[in-house]
Amino acid sequence: MKNRIFHPYTPFSAIEKGVPNMVRGEGIYLFDDAGNRYVDVVSSWWACALGHGHPQVVKAIQEQAGVLQHSITGSLTHPKVLELADRLAHLMPTPERHSVFASDGCSAVEAALKIAVQYWYNLGRPEKNWLIGMDQGYHGDSLGALGVGFVDGFHKPFAKTVSHPAKLPFPTDGDFEPSRKVIEQHKDKLAAVIVEPLCLGSAGMKMYSAGYLGKLADCCTANDVLLIVDEVAMGFGRTGKRFAFNHAGIDPDMVCVGKALTAGYMPLSACIVKDKIYDTFSDTPEDHTFYHGNTFAGHPIGCAAALAALDIYEAEDTVARSAEMAEKLKQWMLPMAELECVKELRFLGMIGVVELNLDTKPLIAKIKQSLFEQGYLFRPLGTMFYLMPPLIITDDELRAAVYALQQTIEEFC
Ligand code: PLP
Repeated sequence: MKNRIFHPYTPFSAIEKGVPNMVRGEGIYLFDDAGNRYVDVVSSWWACALGHGHPQVVKAIQEQAGVLQHSITGSLTHPKVLELADRLAHLMPTPERHSVFASDGCSAVEAALKIAVQYWYNLGRPEKNWLIGMDQGYHGDSLGALGVGFVDGFHKPFAKTVSHPAKLPFPTDGDFEPSRKVIEQHKDKLAAVIVEPLCLGSAGMKMYSAGYLGKLADCCTANDVLLIVDEVAMGFGRTGKRFAFNHAGIDPDMVCVGKALTAGYMPLSACIVKDKIYDTFSDTPEDHTFYHGNTFAGHPIGCAAALAALDIYEAEDTVARSAEMAEKLKQWMLPMAELECVKELRFLGMIGVVELNLDTKPLIAKIKQSLFEQGYLFRPLGTMFYLMPPLIITDDELRAAVYALQQTIEEFC
């Protein structure tokens, strides 16, 4: 059969040789149609925190499909979405919250951005309509998300389509003052600031401190600017706390979640909104209804998958386990710092990064291919390889993956 897929992020040259056809998943492994087994080192784009084929999530999906596969949430509700909205509210530092549901991370981000702008409009301050993100931030590929985040390699053709009225500098040295200047300078126009908490994933797993995030939250509050924390990639245990923003002890105005919300079993995302914002969307005395939605907002099977995933995270103490495994990941990766071609190692929870020197660029594809042939699905970003495996990975599996990466880098560099 001809491959008629318009693949995301995939150069045509990569398709010419044929694309692996994954037919089955089990635990941390994916299997192709020839029966080859691969370790899903990046948790299928950072989503599959519980690996593949978890019987409890599978059962929840099957049961829900037989009971109610879809019913809209416009003026209606259903038990699973009611329960999930309540569960999400209670995962926040203060539970006075309502959730907007969508399917993908970028749709949750779009909702957050529009809610921020309309919030100030609802309050009679329509001039506060700027949305800004952090330099090199990433919040999805829709045009609204590109306006608050931009990865040059991905988004260059759209540079003139989206505008960036301002942005926060990446805090390379952890210094908050340059960001404070941006916020104070534009506070009268700023509706919201959106950030990836502690780690800019798509920019190459660039990390910054919880101290910076704490100062950012304080500065936003002091200047009447909403803070949106995009936990789409980091949420549900990846960083060793339930949410990355928990490291900073803050209570963001809006929190976007996706990916691991259902442990990657169904496309579902949410924007969890503080009630001080939600309450301004009343239709009395004036109509401030949020005229925004998606067909599958609060999809019952997605919600059932999310509830099952949340149950498992709790029952298996996934967050604590992730923090424990994170220490091992670090210890096992540290010897790589001795390799001549290694520029830097970075760690945050169950994310381990090895950044190679720039002159290794021509070798990256070869290292990736060799690891693939050894059964590891790495997806380098620039000259950076990273492990972001399912949080259920065992000691032996993790050690073997680190070892394979080290050996292969040593062999080629
Ligand atoms: N926000 C962050 C921080 C992400 O890393 C991503 C995807 O990688 C998104 C948003 C977009 O999510 P989706 O690809 O589900 O639209």
